This record gives sequence, structure tokens and C-alpha cells, in this order.
Amino acid sequence: MSRRTPFIAGNWKMHKTAAEAEAFLQALAGRSFDGVDVAVCVPFTALWAAKRAAGAGVAVYAQTMHEAPDGAFTGEVSAAMLSEVGIDGVVLGHSERRQFFGESDKALQRKVPAALEAGLTPILCVGESEEERDRGDTERKLRTQVQEGLHDVPTARLHEVVIAYEPIWAIGTGKVATPEQAQEACAFCRALVGDRSREAGDRVRVQYGGSMKPGNAAELLALPDVDGGLIGGASLEPDDFAAIAEAAK
Ligand code: PEP
Repeated sequence: MSRRTPFIAGNWKMHKTAAEAEAFLQALAGRSFDGVDVAVCVPFTALWAAKRAAGAGVAVYAQTMHEAPDGAFTGEVSAAMLSEVGIDGVVLGHSERRQFFGESDKALQRKVPAALEAGLTPILCVGESEEERDRGDTERKLRTQVQEGLHDVPTARLHEVVIAYEPIWAIGTGKVATPEQAQEACAFCRALVGDRSREAGDRVRVQYGGSMKPGNAAELLALPDVDGGLIGGASLEPDDFAAIAEAAK
């Protein structure tokens, strides 16, 4: 099995001004995250300040983008626009984007390859609702989201995508998936990539997201198919975020 570098990404959602982003990144300066890839996913208005303030060990990601290269899409930003200002990657298909802004698997099918083509690392978020889990539909939901989202990604580039398994019922709720649930779902996402290419399945990184905190991170990050975390609430405080990154080492 290939050695996958753990990847911890903080999803700030609609939190932090440019000045606050800068202060956060200054607070991280001097810490070493050797052996772990670390990123913060920041609001559009703070991207530039974050990029300037981030040390070499911290990547800066956007939280969404449009699938088209340009056009009459008021309020939207393209992959090339993010890449031009030095952004490293982008979160795609977060459940809040799917729920509140109608982001569809069809749009994601275009967004994921568009991000890769522009040199951005896409984090493709997938996950089931509580009702879907209760009625035994978790695998069906993950299969649809992973297969549709990756449909137009060339096989040779599949391993460059990061998948974040985020059970919707665990996001921002304080409820955490059990280690068994997280392992099973992350392994299932990996196997779906493996159906396209065994090598890509082995190399692709699958994060767990959903109320990951300094106190539960080590147990989740030690699971064989969990290669990191997408962190919401606990990524807003530099000490908490750094503690999670430490737990990934
Ligand atoms: C998220 O927003 O992706 C997330 C996992 O949030 P939280 O850690 O707050 O549950």
C-alpha cells in the first residue's frame, strides 16, 4: 500500500475577515507540520491576505468555485481566477453548498476536472443525511456522489482528488461518527475510486469530517482508511487546529 501523506484542512465557512485570517496564520507561524499537509479554506475576501500570511507549510484553499471558465454568472469565481492569485485548492460539494445553494452532482462533475485543469486540488465532499443512514442508504448515497463527482476526471489524475467523507448529521452538531462508521465509509469511498483504478484507490486521500476536535482527532486519524480531516468549528482557533494537525503526524 502506498504511504499517503495525512491532510488536515480547516473549513472556515463564512468566518474571518482578511485581518482575522492574517492573525490566525501569524499565530500558526513557527509551528512545524512536518509529515502532514495542512490547508485553510477561507472566504473569497480573505484569500489574498491568507496567501500572503501563510507560511510555506500551510496551503490556502477556496470554499467553492464555478465550473465554467468565464461567463455571465454574477457573483461567481472560476478555477482560473483562484489559480491566478496563487490558491492551492478548493472545497467542492460541501453539504452546506449542496443544501443552501443547490450545488448538484451534475455541476460537480464539471467542477472537479475544471479545478484539476487549473492546477487546484479539489476536496470533493460526500456524505449521507441521518435519514439516509437510518434507512440503510449510506452506501447508495456515497456511490452516487463519488461516481458522479469523479466521472469526468481522467483515470491518471484520480489520485489527485481528495475526498472528504462528511456525514451530514455530524457536521457542526457535536455528534461524531464512531470509528467503525468513519472507517467503513472512508474505505467504501476508496473502494469506489479503486473500481476505476486500483492504483488510484490506493493513492487517493480520504478525509473524515464532522465534529472532529483535538479530543477525538487521534482516534479517527489512526483509522487505516482515514487520511486526514476536514475541520469546521475546531479550525477557527489556531491552537485547536494545530493540535489536530499534530494528531495526524
Ligand atoms: C465542515 O464544515 O466541513 C465540518 C466538518 O464542520 P464541523 O467540524 O464543525 O463539524
